[in-house]
Amino acid sequence: MIDVIIKILEKRLCDRCLGRQFSQLLSRIKNEERGKIIRNFIAMLIDGKLIDYSKINPNNFYGFKFKQNKEFAKNLKKEECWLCNDLFEKIDSLVKKAEKKLKKIEFNNFLVGSKISEEIFSKEEKIWEITGIEFVESIKFEINRELGNRIRKIFKKPVNYKNPEVVVLFDFEKNDVEIQINSLYIFGYYKKLKSGIPQCKWGTPGKYKTSVQQIIAKPIMKATKGVNNKFSGSGREDIDARCLDWRPFVIEIIKPKKRNVNLKKIERQVNKSKKVKVKGLKFCEKYIVKKIKAETGDKVYRVLVKFDRPVDKKELKKLKNLVGIISQRTPIRVAHRRADKIRKRSVKSIKYKQINKKTIELKVEASSGLYIKELVTGDNGRTKPSVSEILNVKAIPKDLDVIKIEKPKDL
Ligand SMILES: [Zn+2]
Repeated sequence: MIDVIIKILEKRLCDRCLGRQFSQLLSRIKNEERGKIIRNFIAMLIDGKLIDYSKINPNNFYGFKFKQNKEFAKNLKKEECWLCNDLFEKIDSLVKKAEKKLKKIEFNNFLVGSKISEEIFSKEEKIWEITGIEFVESIKFEINRELGNRIRKIFKKPVNYKNPEVVVLFDFEKNDVEIQINSLYIFGYYKKLKSGIPQCKWGTPGKYKTSVQQIIAKPIMKATKGVNNKFSGSGREDIDARCLDWRPFVIEIIKPKKRNVNLKKIERQVNKSKKVKVKGLKFCEKYIVKKIKAETGDKVYRVLVKFDRPVDKKELKKLKNLVGIISQRTPIRVAHRRADKIRKRSVKSIKYKQINKKTIELKVEASSGLYIKELVTGDNGRTKPSVSEILNVKAIPKDLDVIKIEKPKDL
C-alpha cells in the first residue's frame, strides 16, 4: 500500500482524491480524513527519510513543517489537485445557488445529479491503473453523496432515487445549477353533465369554448402554478354526449411550483362549474397514465333514437339481434383523424323502451370503443349490423349519454 501511495503521489492530489482510493478501508471516516491520515503518515516517512521520496511531488505537502528533512520542505507551493482540479471547493457556492433556486419551489423529495468533465474520469482511470479498484470509490459517487447530503440538511427532505419530485443538476463544467421539476400527477373520476364539451382542449381547437380538461385544470393550475397540463381519460365520450357515470382520468401538471395542494378544495372548485364534476382526487405516479389509457372496461350507453317512419313493438323485438359482434369501419365523421380500418366490437346487451311510434330509448351495453351513433345509423353500411339495417328504417341518434362505466379493478 505504501508503494502504491508513493506512486500516486507523483501527482499532486487533494485529501479527498487521495483518501477516495482507499474508501473501502475503515468505516465512519470520510475520504477527506482518510487522505489526511495517509498524507500525515507519508510525511513522517519522508521526514525520517525512511522511503524513497525522489519521485513524489513535494507540493503534496504544502503547509507541512518538516523537522528533519528540511531539504524536502524547501519551496513548497500551493498546487491544484491533478485529478479533480479542486472541484470540491466549488461545492459551497454551487449549493448556495441550488438553495436559492429550490427555495422558490415546493418539493417533498429530490435527487441530485452532477456533470463533471470527461478529463476527470479519464484521470481517475489512470490512478486506478496504479491502485487497482479493490478499495476505491468513484469521484462521481462521492460528489453526488456530498451534494445530496448538503441539500438534505438544508431542506430536511429525503432523497428519492426512483421518483424524485425535483432533480438538482450540478454542472461543474459550467459552474451552474439546473433544477428539473418533474410532473405532478393527479388521479380522479369525472362526470360530464352538459353536452357540447370536448374532453381535451386540443381535440377541436377554437371550436369549443371549454373542455373537461380545462374545467378540471383551471383550479389545479392556479394552485400548483404549473406551466402546462396533459389530460388522459379512460376512454372518452363524444362531444355531444354526456358522461353520467364516473370516468377515471389522470391530469399531469408540468413543472409545478407547488405540490402540497388541497385536493378537496380543488374538487369543490371544479364542481362549482355545474358542467363537470370530479371526485376521489388523489396524487398518483406516472405509470397510472398508461394504465388509464389501456383501460378497456365495458360501458353502457343510453341514446334516444328517432325513426323516419312509425315502428311497432313487434318489429322492435328484432333489436335483440344487435347483441353479438359488430363490424365497424372507421366512421366517416372521424375518418380525417383515425386510420380507416374495420374494428370488431361487441354489444353485450340491448334494452329499449318505446317512447312513441317514432322514438325509442335504447340502452346498449358494449365493449369499449364501439361507436354508438354509427350503431344506430349504420353509417352508410360501414357499421354492420345497425339499428337502421335491422329495422329497415332511417334511425337518427339523439341525446347520447354514457350511463355506466365499468370501474377499473386496481386504480
Ligand atoms: Zn482532488
